[in-house]
Amino acid sequence: MVQGNQRLAETIECKKPSTRHPRCIVYDIPNGIADVEVLEVLELTIGAPKDSLKPSFRIKGRGDCSHLVISGRPEYIKFLLNQKKVLINWKTHSIKEHFSVRRCFKCQRYGHIQTKCLSSKHYCAHCGHEHQTKYCRNNLESCINCHEENTQKGARFNIDHSASHNRCPTYLKEIARYRMTLQYE
Ligand SMILES: [Zn+2]
Ligand SMILES: [Zn+2]
Ligand SMILES: [Zn+2]
Repeated sequence: MVQGNQRLAETIECKKPSTRHPRCIVYDIPNGIADVEVLEVLELTIGAPKDSLKPSFRIKGRGDCSHLVISGRPEYIKFLLNQKKVLINWKTHSIKEHFSVRRCFKCQRYGHIQTKCLSSKHYCAHCGHEHQTKYCRNNLESCINCHEENTQKGARFNIDHSASHNRCPTYLKEIARYRMTLQYE
């Protein structure tokens, strides 16, 4: 059994419905190339003024590469998304929209990261019990987020999967919710 109620009490968050601008992600940038160099090329490619794009963060990729998430005025992001790819140092990099749906690796909830977590305890991504995921000895997968959706919000989600599953109903719900907050103008 997962301890949904206790966990809820520990992690009361105020979720304001904020609107966000879309972001995009440029794939497989060698770590040796600085963010500013990438942004310069992108700005030149779409004819945007200097400093109109901003780096958000990098996501580790394969080998010595990473993916750069970029923010900026919606019209520039739209140009980039229409562009679909960019040439940096004679190499083509694809550009896609970035959906930031963050899951906390401590309590497994959506909407914050581990360093901002208000939960005093770790909950397992694999089985939903009260321990760190890396110490899990449980064979059965059980999603703590879907369990909570069922018990708190009357959903009828299947819970036989880990909280990190990419088809997790709660995860899909979060992506849909995130899409609705995006402002493309
Ligand atoms: Zn958390
Ligand atoms: Zn576990
Ligand atoms: Zn789930």
